[in-house]
Amino acid sequence: MLIVMKFGGTSVGSAERIAQAAQLAVDAAAQGHQVVVVTSAMSKVTDSLINAARLASTGEWNPARRQELFDRHKVVADTLLDGDAARKAAVLEALGQRLDRFEKLCFGLSMVHELTPRLLDAISGTGEMLAAPLLSAAIAAKGRASESIDATELIVSTEQFGGAEPLMEETRVKASARLNPMLARGEIPVVTGFIAATADGVMTTLGRGGSDYSASIVGAAIDAHEVWIWTDVDGVMTANPSEVPEARTLSEISYSEASELAYYGAKVLHYKTIIPAFRKRIPVRILNSFNPKHPGTCVSVEGNPSVRGVKAVTSIRGVILVAISGTGMQGIPGIVAKTFDVVAAQQANVLMISQASSENNICFVLSAAEAPRVLSALRVALEFELSRGLIEEIAAEQQVAIVAAVGDKMRGTPGVAATVFSALGIAGINVIAISQGSSERNISLVVTERDAATAVRAIHAAFQLEKTS
Ligand code: ASP
Ligand code: MG
Repeated sequence: MLIVMKFGGTSVGSAERIAQAAQLAVDAAAQGHQVVVVTSAMSKVTDSLINAARLASTGEWNPARRQELFDRHKVVADTLLDGDAARKAAVLEALGQRLDRFEKLCFGLSMVHELTPRLLDAISGTGEMLAAPLLSAAIAAKGRASESIDATELIVSTEQFGGAEPLMEETRVKASARLNPMLARGEIPVVTGFIAATADGVMTTLGRGGSDYSASIVGAAIDAHEVWIWTDVDGVMTANPSEVPEARTLSEISYSEASELAYYGAKVLHYKTIIPAFRKRIPVRILNSFNPKHPGTCVSVEGNPSVRGVKAVTSIRGVILVAISGTGMQGIPGIVAKTFDVVAAQQANVLMISQASSENNICFVLSAAEAPRVLSALRVALEFELSRGLIEEIAAEQQVAIVAAVGDKMRGTPGVAATVFSALGIAGINVIAISQGSSERNISLVVTERDAATAVRAIHAAFQLEKTS
């Protein structure tokens, strides 16, 4: 089998973890698989790169930041490559070059005081470029030939800095030309997650948490048989175990369930990960590098549908409900169009929408970070309607959460909504807004942030999700 294995930040967070990741890759190769590794930055490194860039752009550049990063990575080389002076020297040389580049970029920022998304990508992607040479050397030290490759050589992307999208055809050509000969020789390429490059070679990133997406893009580009996402939990669970202690791992879910769950707050997978894999019907496994014997969760077409309908319950906190209301809105066309034009112009992401058929109120949910600028833009764009009293109010409700019940078999199963709402009623929870898409795979509701955990537990219990179906 050709397997793309991705290791997340905690799975490469220390010398010990990198040794374990290398072992998992080498073991799979020893079983006769062809393996491409995709790595995240060591845990917290991306955050500190972004902080360094922000500070530098205010004029503050402290070279100690470079040294801290060097030390954190050098410990790994010292621990894992001690018996191998030549290999260790080569890795330290690579780390040094990459950190020189980082330092120059930050120094430049401290002079010009302007942090563009393009510069931020050039800096924030450094973490993967430091982790890949280490992981590759650790694999080589275990006796399997390996090379570290910057994904800027493989993934061609759009120019949306901070959230670039792959151009799959170009990526397929580049990735197979570079990776296939190595695989044919039995080598294990170690590719940087998170980063890509435009057709002109300018570095981009795929968005925070995007290394999962990288793995799926590479998998689709080289027609991998499976994509394995090694993380620090035993797969996708029926709920967040810190909210619901009896939550359990789902052994199988479908692509659509995986993307609903990733979108609605289950932090296991980046929400775009499923798209490239789904297009090629490549199964995605979510596995725990801290507990590799656990079978984890497999994402596939069928996904072992549950007769109960609902398979998992998630919540997203830190969101804001925007409500536009007024009796004058009835029958007046264009208010919805105007509203969402504004949201789009602000490049804000709508998490949920609801409008009752009385048309007196439309409401939608935004992340707390995006809401303030959308609200001020809405007040300007809808000034005419506000001044005429057609719209009475544009209100924002803070400290709410979205709770979502997800499952493919909710479609066409009568009584699912009734069970959800009676569970909430019995628990005494007030539902502020409701939405069910016509795909029927998801019922989302808005409750106060205070009620979110109780709501999740009530729905989990009502569908007995702690029991296997
Ligand atoms: N290192 C990047 C981040 O922290 C990408 C990833 O880990 O998936 O966002
Ligand atoms: Mg991640």
